[in-house]
Parts: sequence; C-alpha cells; structure tokens
Amino acid sequence: MPTTATAAVLRARGAPYALEPVELVEPGPGQVLVRIRACGICHTDVGVQNNEQGLPLPQVLGHEGAGEVLATGPGVSRLAVGDRVVLSYASCGSCPNCAAARPQYCGQFMALNYAGVLDDGRVPMAGPGGEPIYGGFFGQSSFATHALAYERNAVKMADDGLPWEVLAPFGCGMQTGSGTVYNALAPRAGQSLAVFGTGSVGLAALMAAADLGCAPLFAIDRNPARLELARSLGATHTIVADGRDVMAAIREVLPLGLDFAVDTTGVGPVIRAGVEALATRGQLVMLAVTPPGTEITLNPNMLLGGKALRGVVEGDADPQAFIPQLIARHRAGRFPHDRLVTTYPFAAINEAVADMRAGKVIKPVLMMD
Ligand SMILES: [Zn+2]
Ligand SMILES: [Zn+2]
Repeated sequence: MPTTATAAVLRARGAPYALEPVELVEPGPGQVLVRIRACGICHTDVGVQNNEQGLPLPQVLGHEGAGEVLATGPGVSRLAVGDRVVLSYASCGSCPNCAAARPQYCGQFMALNYAGVLDDGRVPMAGPGGEPIYGGFFGQSSFATHALAYERNAVKMADDGLPWEVLAPFGCGMQTGSGTVYNALAPRAGQSLAVFGTGSVGLAALMAAADLGCAPLFAIDRNPARLELARSLGATHTIVADGRDVMAAIREVLPLGLDFAVDTTGVGPVIRAGVEALATRGQLVMLAVTPPGTEITLNPNMLLGGKALRGVVEGDADPQAFIPQLIARHRAGRFPHDRLVTTYPFAAINEAVADMRAGKVIKPVLMMD
C-alpha cells in the first residue's frame, strides 16, 4: 500500500515550497519508511532551492529529519517498527571508502544523495495525478510528514526523552561542524583555533573546540550579535569582519599564528586570510559548498612550513558511530546546540527559510506533528 503524506514540494528553482499531498512508494530492500517528527533546515537546502545544481524537479528537499520507523523493507535487520531514528546522509557501504569506514567520501555519494531517485532507481513519490515527484535527497527528503530512508543512514536513538527538535540537527549541520573539529582536526587542549563564519555549522565547530579546551578560540563574523553568542558558547576572542585586517587582528593575539582554522564561508579572500594566519604546521579546513566559479588565489609559499589546506565533508563522520557520541556530549552539557534551535510549524517552512536567510535565526527546525 502506498503511504499518503504531506510534503513541501519545490516546483521551480527559486520558488517557495508548496505543501502538497504525495504518495510514497513502499520501502524496498534496505529501505525504511519514517514518520518525520522534525526536520532542520540547512544552508544546502537553501542552495539547492535557489541555484541550478542539476537536481530534477519537482522535488522534496530536507536532510535533517528525525522520527519513528513506520515500516521496513526486505533485509532490514537492525531497525524495527517504532524505533526512533535520526536521518543522515546516504552511502553505499561497499565502495573502497565505505569499506575503509569513510562513508562521507563514498564513491556513490552524488548518486545516493542528489540524483532525485532511490538507490533502486525508483522515483519515491507521486502527486495526486500520478505525476512523479523526485526525492531521496540526502537519502531522505524530510521536508515531509513521511520519508523513505535507508537502514544505513537511519541512526537508532535511545528512547530517552530528547525532544525531536534537538535530535533533528544532528543529521547534518551539527555533525558537519563538530565532526570537523572532533574527527578531522582533533586539537589538544591549549591549541589555538579560529572559526570563520558563525552560522550553525561554524558555531557547532566552535562548541566542539571549546569542549576540547582550544585556547585562544577565535570567532570571526560580520554580525556582532552572532559574535556575542559565540562568546557565550566558548569563544575567547571575537573579530568583527567589517573590512579590518583579520589576519593582523589574529596575529596581535597570537604572533606565531593559528594551529587550526575552520572556514564555513566559502569566500576566497576569507580563506586566504585564514591561510595567512596559520602557524607553522597549521591546518585550515573548508566546509562550505561554494557557488560555481569560486576561486581561491594563494601564493604557494604560504603553504610551505608544513601547512595544510583541505576540504571536509560531513565532519569526516560516520553517522552510525558519531551521532551517538555527539548526543552523549550534548547530554553531558558539553555540546549545547539546543541554544541554536528555533522551531516552526511545518506549514511555516517558507517563513523559516526567510528568517534563516535574513540571519534572524540560526538553526530553524520544522515540527511535523
Ligand atoms: Zn560507498
Ligand atoms: Zn546540510
């Protein structure tokens, strides 16, 4: 039996979402049907909504879903009906990087997260007249009351009372920002770190760095209100990026330069300033997906001295292992990301997106029930 759901359908690039009835196909092998209770909105959703990136339309986006398993497809053994799950990105499980426990660099990443269809090639949804509606976005499409995900990207939660709006953002934004620090950089207490851009991903990186005892810990942004929040989350120094020389401001505090820098802006000159501010053997990681045509200009000599510039996807995290660790840190008071969350009813999705784009809220989370 197909499942009837309400989904926020994107019908044209740059258009608002329209809440519409859709029918979902039954879960196939390795797939699960999830009753979505909450879904965070991430900058990647906004990018895909507004920029041509080759995704078929009409499509349902949303990739920070959390909810309960309603049905399981053939071969699903680790999950059962009624399990509470957080959904993350999809990976194949069998390519060389998945076999090496690096699913974030899965060889099938684009096919499984951006193709608009399920791993078995089926279009997951249909409109009332049978019109195909694409989905499978990050292995879920959770801007909907129901979503088809995979056993591999559904992380089972303990039934311990954490609210849905706290659980949902673990699937992408919180994992990406914090995993970059916990997994990719792994600083020791007392090492210095700077976060460029204090949106939800940047603040997640900052909270992780504070948790590990990084000092000095810089936050850099154009928005002074964000920097105040960054300070309350553990930043020891803040720099308003209002045209001043950010590198000089960092070097004033830290003449030898930074051990680590995390760029969430994707802006060429900002990345360059971050590299210029690195100490010998310092590392800068880039997390942002940049618009086509973006280029960085660097003097290669800047990277001599053992410095590194690299990109990181999804916080170098395997969600099945990492999300439970992050939840344990949250419960211990070491990762208070709930302070970034603002909830909206599902029907207010367009308002939530507008508020995020205007910088009024950091991590909007849609509530589906
Ligand atoms: Zn793979
Ligand atoms: Zn995301």
